[in-house]
Amino acid sequence: MTDLSPQTPRTPSAEAVEVRRFWEGLGLPGLIDVHTHFMPERVLRKVWGYFDALGPLTGGVEWPITYRHEEGERADLLRDFGVRAFTAMLYPHKPGMARWLNGWAVDFARRTPGSLHTATFFPEPGVETYVREAVEAGARVFKAHLQVGAYDPADELLDPVWGLLAEAGVPAVVHCGSGPAPGKHTGPGPIGQVLARHPGLPLIVAHLGMPEYEDFLGLAERYPRVRLDTTMAFTDFSEEMAPFPRRALPRLAALGDRVLLGSDFPNIPYPYAHQLRALERLGLGEEWLRAVCHDNAAALFGIR
Ligand SMILES: [Zn+2]
Repeated sequence: MTDLSPQTPRTPSAEAVEVRRFWEGLGLPGLIDVHTHFMPERVLRKVWGYFDALGPLTGGVEWPITYRHEEGERADLLRDFGVRAFTAMLYPHKPGMARWLNGWAVDFARRTPGSLHTATFFPEPGVETYVREAVEAGARVFKAHLQVGAYDPADELLDPVWGLLAEAGVPAVVHCGSGPAPGKHTGPGPIGQVLARHPGLPLIVAHLGMPEYEDFLGLAERYPRVRLDTTMAFTDFSEEMAPFPRRALPRLAALGDRVLLGSDFPNIPYPYAHQLRALERLGLGEEWLRAVCHDNAAALFGIR
């Protein structure tokens, strides 16, 4: 159980000191991480099971989970790191599940300081209703996973959902790239169709669109409300599987106001600080890092 009483200050771990040194060095008040996973315990266990089994989620690659702790400890760790705001990326893999996940997410947001109320959906009858309810209940961000959900984002059942999110200005983090393993509806094509119909959709492309980085940079260049999260991009782990093309760095630099820090915490096969150092070593400068690691998300979510 998460203790709701004022916390006695924890002694920061060496790791927390390292993470804090990163953002303190940039003169930031902390980090904002738009891509962290919190979900009902039994769903999370199942996800971890996939990673352990080197299943379709991992593309068959060894993927040891670094932060396999109970929920309260995971949230405490993020706060120790100085993550001022973080999301609860959760997503269904079948119909009849999203509404239940959204109910859990309301409660999670309530009991977890620093979390941004997150919701999800699936192409199914009633989806427009429960998405509207989630927005009315204060959802700040949505998550959709096209590989795990194995659905077409351009499915007509989702048309009113994209329209509603565009109108409400509520961003959706969508895993639409084909990494680490492609799905039938991943890649720039299907989500590109959605954007053609809903050009004002505040889409956040997860994982920088890995491995189709350049196609997704292209979507962001074309649609001013499209953003990209950095989740796992540029890390040693991802560079080995799906290297970011050096020639695209100037485009990444130019989109500095639309790139957002994401980590995939806790499901990462390396320490949290590695994501930050991986961004730093791109050599795009401190201004770019400040925008990406904090300021862009602060503006998007109205965090002061
Ligand atoms: Zn993720």
